[in-house]
Formats: sequence, structure tokens, C-alpha cells
Amino acid sequence: MDISLLHGALKEEKKFRHTQAEKAVFVDLIDDWSQATTFPIALREKLNSECPLEIKAEVTGGSGKKGVAKALITLNDGEQIETVLIPQADGRFAVCLSSQVGCPLACVFCATGMNGFTRNLRAEEIVEQFLFWARYLKKENYGRIDNAVFMGQGEPFLNYEEVMKAIKILNDPENFNFGARRISISTSGVLNGIKRLAGEKLQVNLAISLHAPSDALRSNIMPLAGKTPLKKLLEAVDNYIAKTGRRVMFEYLLIKEVNDRDEDAIMLAKLLNKPLYLTNLIPYNPTGRFQPSTPARTARFKDLLERAGLSVTARRSLGQEIDAACGQLAGKRKKR
Ligand code: SAH
Ligand code: SF4
Repeated sequence: MDISLLHGALKEEKKFRHTQAEKAVFVDLIDDWSQATTFPIALREKLNSECPLEIKAEVTGGSGKKGVAKALITLNDGEQIETVLIPQADGRFAVCLSSQVGCPLACVFCATGMNGFTRNLRAEEIVEQFLFWARYLKKENYGRIDNAVFMGQGEPFLNYEEVMKAIKILNDPENFNFGARRISISTSGVLNGIKRLAGEKLQVNLAISLHAPSDALRSNIMPLAGKTPLKKLLEAVDNYIAKTGRRVMFEYLLIKEVNDRDEDAIMLAKLLNKPLYLTNLIPYNPTGRFQPSTPARTARFKDLLERAGLSVTARRSLGQEIDAACGQLAGKRKKR
């Protein structure tokens, strides 16, 4: 599917047809123009040949309403990306979106990063992932998407324009009408992106992948993102908070004997003990090189942060069994 072909295919049609067509795709979630029954048959056929709606995807997992499902989507140029549907404990659904084919930042704990970078996604290709899950939930009669997180493959702030364009398409009250408050962007710390987001009139949530309490350790595990000094990164976050008044989530992966020592917790607590800073401890999903922290270590780490006064959450890890958890999205390259 390439929805950017839609308006070209409709160029001889009146404006209302464009509006109807968008509504059919984004609101009624049709997956074939033959379902656009208000359209003349000839137009349905033309659209099916010039702007087909089929999304080429292979789904794994997704057993029942509670199972995490992963879709491997083949794009028009043959590149493949992964997107994940994550049922929440409260019955809501989150989708995890990719922003790039691969990622150039090469974090050593991340399957995407270890596979290199191919290209940025276009806004339509980001929206396509969302559309895929919206159709899936409708077909299964499970309901709607409640949250969308840019935590799939790629660094969203290295593809800023297209990510923002996609968010605006999702926001459009005439289309998905999916509020920015329900969208989170996770960045490994691209300063320019944080700065630009602070200037947008959008209530998108921001998450920062910190993963280490010192520049030395951070650059060991995040060779490129770690080049940005923590001091500068936190300054950018503080400016963002001053401008937007919004909370920021700091993500911290717990990797056994790498960043989970008592002194790491103590250093981290010093960095993150500020109002509107939230800390989220994430279990490391094995991607080959490291081991996750033990449950006892994780509890101790959390306790040290809480005793220092931080607001800490510890995220449950979902989807490991189908390699769909954060950092495990390798796309087709893994399968070669
Ligand atoms: N590039 C962005 C967004 C995609 S990664 C970023 O790094 O923030 C989404 C989240 O998954 C990040 O917090 C990332 O650090 C985390 N992640 C990467 N590898 C992981 C792994 N093996 N286990 C758990 N989380 C991982
Ligand atoms: Fe890229 Fe994020 Fe993976 Fe790092 S963790 S390699 S920034 S996708």
C-alpha cells in the first residue's frame, strides 16, 4: 500500500470524493476499494489498480486478545519493517511503531542497531503500521488502538519531519482523530529533535533512552548516542520541560553487571532527582551479548532510586517469546 498515491489517483474527481476516500481508509478501515460502496464501480476499480489498499504483512504471535502480536510489513520497495501490538493489562492496546528501516546509532544492546541502517520511513509508511493494527483490531473485534509509541526500529528524531507528518495525519480530526497525548516518542537523545519538539504545539509524550548514569558507561553501550554528554542532554530536557510543562520519562535498561551496580543507582538518582522527571526501569531483552539483571538486583536498584526520592516504574516485558520486545526488532535481516 502507498496511500500517498491516493490524491493522484483521484485527481480528476471533485473535492468531496477525496474526503470520502480518506474517510473510507482511515475511519471505516476498508482494505479494498470494492468496499467503498458509495463510489461508482469504475472508480473503485481505478482505485484498486492505482492505489491498492492491501498491506503486505506477516503476523506472528497474537494468540487471543492478550497475546502480543508482531507484524513484518513489506514496503513497496521491498524493504521490511516490524511493528508490534501490545495488549495492556487493563485491556487497552498499544502499538509500537518503527520510524526507520534499521537504525544508524548502533547501540550494542539493540538488535535493530546491530543490523545497520537502510533508510528513513516516509510518513505514509509510519501511518501504514498504525492502519494495519487498526484494521486487525477491528477484524478481530477487539476494539481500537489506545496508545502509540515510537519504540520500534529506528531513531525517530533522525527522521523528524516524517515522524511529525505521520503524527499530524494520525491527529487529523477528519481521519484517525488520534490525540497527540496518546503518542510517545522515544529518543536515544538527539538534541535537535528534543529542541524542535519543545517548539511544536503538540502534546506528544517524550521518553529519553538513558541506560547509563555516566558519559563513559553510556558511550560504551551507546557508541553514537553516547557522544552527546549527559549534561547537554539533560539541559535540553530541562528546556523542553520549561517550555512545555510536560513530564519526561527516562528509560533505563537493566543489564546484568553492566549498569546495574549500587553505584550506578546512586549516580542515576543524583541525575534524575528533579520534578517532572520519571524513571522507568526496563528489563533487558536478550539480543545475544548481555544478560538481564536478576530480579533481586532489579528490586535493589529500584529501591535505591526510590529511597533517593525518584518516581520509578518498572515495566513488565512483553513479547519476548516472539522476538517482539523492545530492542529485538531485527526485521528481515535477522532471518537471512
Ligand atoms: N531509537 C529510539 C526508539 C526505539 S528503541 C530509542 O533508542 O529510544 C525503543 C526502546 O527500546 C529504547 O528505550 C531502547 O533503548 C530500548 N531497547 C533497545 N534494545 C533493547 C533490549 N534489548 N531490551 C529492552 N529494551 C531495549
Ligand atoms: Fe537505534 Fe534506539 Fe536501537 Fe539505539 S536503541 S540502535 S537508537 S533503535
